Amino acid sequence: MTRVAVLGTGIMGAGMARSLARAGLDVAAWNRNPDKARPLADDGIAVAEKPEEAVAGAAVVVTMLFDAASVAEVMTGALQAMTDGAVWVQTSTVGLDGTAELAQLARAHGVGFVDAPVLGTRQPAEQGQLTVLAAGPTELRDAVAPVFDAIGAKTVWVGDEPGAAHRLKLVVNAWVLSVVTGTAQSITLAEKLGLDPQLFLDAIAGGAMDAPYVQLKGRAMVAGDYPPAFAVDGALKDSGLIGDALRATGADDRLITAVNALFADAAEAGRAGEDMAAVAEVFRR
Ligand code: NAP
Repeated sequence: MTRVAVLGTGIMGAGMARSLARAGLDVAAWNRNPDKARPLADDGIAVAEKPEEAVAGAAVVVTMLFDAASVAEVMTGALQAMTDGAVWVQTSTVGLDGTAELAQLARAHGVGFVDAPVLGTRQPAEQGQLTVLAAGPTELRDAVAPVFDAIGAKTVWVGDEPGAAHRLKLVVNAWVLSVVTGTAQSITLAEKLGLDPQLFLDAIAGGAMDAPYVQLKGRAMVAGDYPPAFAVDGALKDSGLIGDALRATGADDRLITAVNALFADAAEAGRAGEDMAAVAEVFRR
């Protein structure tokens, strides 16, 4: 049975580890805060005390940590403990420079690297229904296929070079973060104009301007209830990475700069761990 190590069992990593185990793979998991990894033992997952212990004997190592710095920190030790021929699947959102740095780290250790950011949030991660965006050497595709099939409903191969998948991830997240902040603005404008904000969601429902995502996040904003699926701190990180990418290409960065400032305000207001829909509270102030 293929052994897979999952490093990082936060919102996404825990669901992915359970989806891997449900698919019949032999899963070992590690998390910095052991309290978040321990419950995975109930799903037949071997909970490791150290990253080195989790990766030993694994054919595929999946990283699902916060950012490039945390992935580099954890993998610097873990890479030395990886089995010969094992492949590193990097699913955390780390940006373009981050992906280049991590791919270089893998190369320096002679480890195969697949850039594999994912689309989807807590529930799709739990259900094995993510979309995997993948880029890496063609010869590694067979080795990672059982992992991608377990965590995702589909895999989109974007190219053979790490970085290509992350470019597409930033493109998608630029749109997601703009939609969420735009929804927050309309919900708050409705309230400030003396309207029931639900009328905004009802008015667009079912038409060409509607999106399931707007209804989902809009309902949370109307209720003022923000259990995290994708937290404000992640939205702040990603809007920073998207801004970097826009500036590197010479494209106009004013929209994402405003979006980034809104998430920074939400984090400063003590909402870093709440769902990114909590950005509505910045408009409401
Ligand atoms: P999360 O619940 O906050 O999990 C973050 C993970 O990173 C935790 O396991 C945390 O460990 C770990 N971590 C942070 N800093 C660390 C460090 N210095 N050393 C070791 N571990 C560290 O976040 P998430 O939502 O699962 O997101 C994980 C990644 O997936 C992020 O890159 C995010 O952008 C991306 N992503 C998220 C979503 C989503 O909808 N949530 C969707 C697609 C992609 P502790 O538990 O010990 O703090």
